[in-house]
Amino acid sequence: MRNYYEYADRNGREENVQNKENEKKKRKSEQRKKERRRAFLFAGIASTTMVFLIVAAFFLGRMSKSMEVMNINTDNKTMSVEKDMNNNTANAEENTATAAKYIWKSENQMTGNEKVTEAVNNDILTLVNPTHRMPENWSVDLVDLINDQSIDRRAYEDLQNMMDDCRAEGLHPLICSSYRSHEKQIELYENKVNRLLEEGYEEDQAVREAERWIAVPGTSEHELGLAVDIVDESYQMLDDAQADTQTQIWLMNNSYRYGYILRYPADKADLTGISYEPWHYRYVGKEAAEYMYENDLCMEEYFLSR
Ligand SMILES: [Zn+2]
Repeated sequence: MRNYYEYADRNGREENVQNKENEKKKRKSEQRKKERRRAFLFAGIASTTMVFLIVAAFFLGRMSKSMEVMNINTDNKTMSVEKDMNNNTANAEENTATAAKYIWKSENQMTGNEKVTEAVNNDILTLVNPTHRMPENWSVDLVDLINDQSIDRRAYEDLQNMMDDCRAEGLHPLICSSYRSHEKQIELYENKVNRLLEEGYEEDQAVREAERWIAVPGTSEHELGLAVDIVDESYQMLDDAQADTQTQIWLMNNSYRYGYILRYPADKADLTGISYEPWHYRYVGKEAAEYMYENDLCMEEYFLSR
């Protein structure tokens, strides 16, 4: 009996061992299957995510290209076109190395004939030029654009439409200068005078020369927030040849539809007091822009004709 029990016991134990091993194998193969499934799932998720990211990046890239507006802090970042005329490229780095020697004072450039324009309701048709200074009560409500630019909110929507439509024609316009604070204009002006002093100019010569390139503070339309300098991405030089770029040809023929005028045409320099700038556009609203375009008037003539 004992043997029998022993046998049965051993047999039972052997069966148990066998069962345990079978179970182990089963579990192992199930584990392997699970791992394989997990690996497939992971590969699937990873590749789907990759495709999604690529598609998202593509659309984001397109969106930021077509949208001028973005929430960027514009403090102190406004690009200056006039400043860059020194080396004639719109994207040149700001020259901050100049030690201040010349300090601009408002009365320095006053001849006694200037008018300080009174801004009536912040009129978008406010005239600012070498003889019409910035209204003292001017206030700017700015919209931030991409590339650290900003513009008067009232001029924004038409600017966006103009840029969009220009791009839809396969062109590549680039805003390289826009709103500039009075302080920024002073800084640019002083830097220019100081560079000229370093080159050996006498102070009165330096001041006269600087005025040819940089608007005297208080007389720049960029301070109004209603002017933009636009160049062709493929040609960013601020010279007469800018007029021959496809972007400029399109803008000159179409900007009035969006309320913008080419502010300093070649044949009006004696009236505007500013030499040809085939990149500087001023917002005046659609009605006035169309009238000036149809009648070939610069802004000064437009005011005389009213
Ligand atoms: Zn300009």
